[in-house]
Amino acid sequence: MPKQQDVDVLVVGAGLAGLHTATLLAQRGHDVLLVERRPRLTGAIRTTGIFVRRTLDDFPLPAECLGPPIRRVVLYPPGLRRAVTLDSDRDEYRVGDMAPLYVATAESAAEAGVRIALGTRFAGRRDDSFVLVGHDGPTRVRARFVVGADGARSRVARDLALDRNHHLLVGAEEVFEVPRSEEPPAFHCVLDPSLAPGYLAWVVNDGRHAHVGVAGYAARFPHGLRRALERFGASAPGLSGATRSDEVERRGGPIPVGGLLRRIGCADGLLVGDAAGAVSPLTAGGLDPCLRLSTLAAGVLDDALRTGRPDALARYDGAALRARFRGRLMLRRALAQVRTPAVAAMGFTFLRTPFGRSAARRILFGDRSFPDPGN
Ligand SMILES: Cc1cc2nc3c(=O)[nH]c(=O)nc-3n(C[C@H](O)[C@H](O)[C@H](O)COP(=O)(O)OP(=O)(O)OC[C@H]3O[C@@H](n4cnc5c(N)ncnc54)[C@H](O)[C@@H]3O)c2cc1C
Repeated sequence: MPKQQDVDVLVVGAGLAGLHTATLLAQRGHDVLLVERRPRLTGAIRTTGIFVRRTLDDFPLPAECLGPPIRRVVLYPPGLRRAVTLDSDRDEYRVGDMAPLYVATAESAAEAGVRIALGTRFAGRRDDSFVLVGHDGPTRVRARFVVGADGARSRVARDLALDRNHHLLVGAEEVFEVPRSEEPPAFHCVLDPSLAPGYLAWVVNDGRHAHVGVAGYAARFPHGLRRALERFGASAPGLSGATRSDEVERRGGPIPVGGLLRRIGCADGLLVGDAAGAVSPLTAGGLDPCLRLSTLAAGVLDDALRTGRPDALARYDGAALRARFRGRLMLRRALAQVRTPAVAAMGFTFLRTPFGRSAARRILFGDRSFPDPGN
C-alpha cells in the first residue's frame, strides 16, 4: 500500500509557473508540495529565456542570472536581404541564464517553505488522492487543491477534465558561448515559412551567449524540425563571425499558441503557465504570461483556502481572460496563412513603410505582451 500525506496544495511542475505559484502560496502560510519529474532543474530546459521589459519591471528576477540588455531587433525576409532594423531607446529584453535562474527561484521557494520533490512524477488521481511516482515507488497525496503547472501537454488538465492545448508550435534551439564583440546585443528574427512554417527562426546574441533556433507547425516542416535547425544554423545571421562552439546546449519543446484556455479551473484545482495556454499567440512568449497568471492563481487559491468558500475558484475564469486575446489570435491566424517565401517577402514591403515599422515596434517593444489578469 503506498504511503499517504496530506497538503493544502499540490503543485505539479517546477517550471517558472509552478515555482512562482508555489512560492506565493507558501509565503501566505499554506502547506505546499511541489513535484517535478525531472531529477534536476538544470536539465531539459524548454525556453530561450527572453524576458521582456514588463517582466523585468514587475517581477524580482535574480539580476545575476540575466544577460546584458537588448535594445535592437532585426527582422529578415526570406533570403536575408534588406533587413528591417528596429532600435529602442529602452532596454527591451534580457536573456535569462535559465539553469541558475531555476535553481535560484527554487531556493527562494524552499526558503518560503515549499517542499520540493524532484524526480517525482504526477501519475493521476485515484479516489480522493493523487498518485506520485518517485525514486522509492508510488506515494499518495491528499491535497485540498492541485495546480497543473506541468506544461503544454498537461496531465493534470486531463485528470481534472479541464481544457487542453491543441494549437501547438514546436521549437528547438542550440545555445553556445560567443566571444565578446563590438556589435550591440540583438534579437534577429527570420520570417521565412520554408524554414520556420507559421512562426520564425531566430538568433539572440547578447554578447555572451548565442541562441540559434527555429519554431513552427510540426506538420509543415518539409524535412522535420531538426533538419530545419541545421539548415538555419549553417547561415544564421547575427553571429558576428562567431562560430558554434563544441559546447552546445540543446533545448526545445511544444509551444501552445491557441490562446488562454477557457476552462482552467474547477473545484479541485486549476492550471497555470503553458498548461493553461498562457502564451502570447502572436509572439509565442510565455514567461511573462506564466508569471502574471500564476500571481492571479495564487491569490484565488489563497482566498479559497482561507474562506473555504466553494465559489472562490469561479474568479479564475479563462473564458473571460481569453476575450482580451482577440486581436492577437487574429494576427496568429494571419501569420499561420503565410505559407510561401513570396508571401513573406510581400509582408516585408509593408514592414518597410513607416506604418509597418510602427506596427512592428508596437508588437516588439510594446507594453502589452499579455493582458494583466489582475486588472
Ligand atoms: C524552444 C522554446 C523557446 C522559448 N522561448 C521563449 C522566450 O524566449 N521567451 C518567452 O517568454 N517564452 C519562451 N518560450 C515559451 C516559454 O518558455 C514557456 O511559455 C514557459 O517556460 C512556460 O513555463 P511553465 O512553467 O508553464 O512550463 P514548463 O517550463 O514547461 O514547466 C513544466 C514542468 O512540468 C514538469 N512536468 C510535466 N509533466 C509532469 C508530471 N506528470 N509530473 C511532474 N512534473 C511534470 C516538466 O518537467 C516541466 O519542468 C519558449 C518555448 C520554447 C519551446
